[in-house]
Amino acid sequence: MARLGMVIDLSRCVGCHGCSVACQAEWELLPEQHFTKVYRYEVGTFPKVHGGVVVTQCMHCDDPPCLKVCPTGATQKRPDGLVVVEESKCIGCRYCETACPYGARSFNKERGIVQKCYFCYSRIDKGKKPACVETCMAGARFFGDWDDPGSEVNDILKTKNAIKIAGTAFAYVPPRNWLMDRSLLPPDFQEPGAVRIWQDLVRPAGKAAMGLAAAAVVTSLLVNTFNKGGVHRAGKED
Ligand code: SF4
Ligand code: SF4
Repeated sequence: MARLGMVIDLSRCVGCHGCSVACQAEWELLPEQHFTKVYRYEVGTFPKVHGGVVVTQCMHCDDPPCLKVCPTGATQKRPDGLVVVEESKCIGCRYCETACPYGARSFNKERGIVQKCYFCYSRIDKGKKPACVETCMAGARFFGDWDDPGSEVNDILKTKNAIKIAGTAFAYVPPRNWLMDRSLLPPDFQEPGAVRIWQDLVRPAGKAAMGLAAAAVVTSLLVNTFNKGGVHRAGKED
């Protein structure tokens, strides 16, 4: 079975937002919803200031906390690694939004559900590439199977010294001049502690306790959200 993932080549990305727009069209999102976010950053001090771009989306975590807190089973991980949401099962409780360490969840206020990047599974299942990959005019996005040693993603990982984000399906090729601080990339995955407690101890205790437990998780993770680092703190969505 494949383990699908993506490499984003920041030495090629020009920050055109093409991926973000293609994604919005593919999934008929509201104007304020961005599964793919484009951040601009600046480093240095005047007059030696350099800028660049980082793009992010759902990292399709190996062990996703969004799935663990989902009370209805709407969030699922497929055998090929894709983390998807069965939208008809989503009740809009937004626990997953708070549990996600990458801020990748997006609330659709018209439909009352929480969504995210699905790696365009409907296209992939037909042998196509995700819309963001197909539309990227700079050729900055690569999609493939991490378990296939001959895949394009593994080839780029080796030949372009890409940085794999541990615990996720993503890797990034750094910008050419390497002026970017590593902390501007999404950090390696770390499960928020409260989610593990919820998963290991509270959930088996029975569904009656679920509301209270989830409230505790939400409170704890709100604190975590304010403390988390990486691109969400350092960059500004363009
Ligand atoms: Fe960068 Fe490609 Fe997205 Fe444009 S479409 S912002 S070049 S990744
Ligand atoms: Fe879930 Fe967030 Fe990980 Fe995506 S990045 S799989 S939404 S926890």
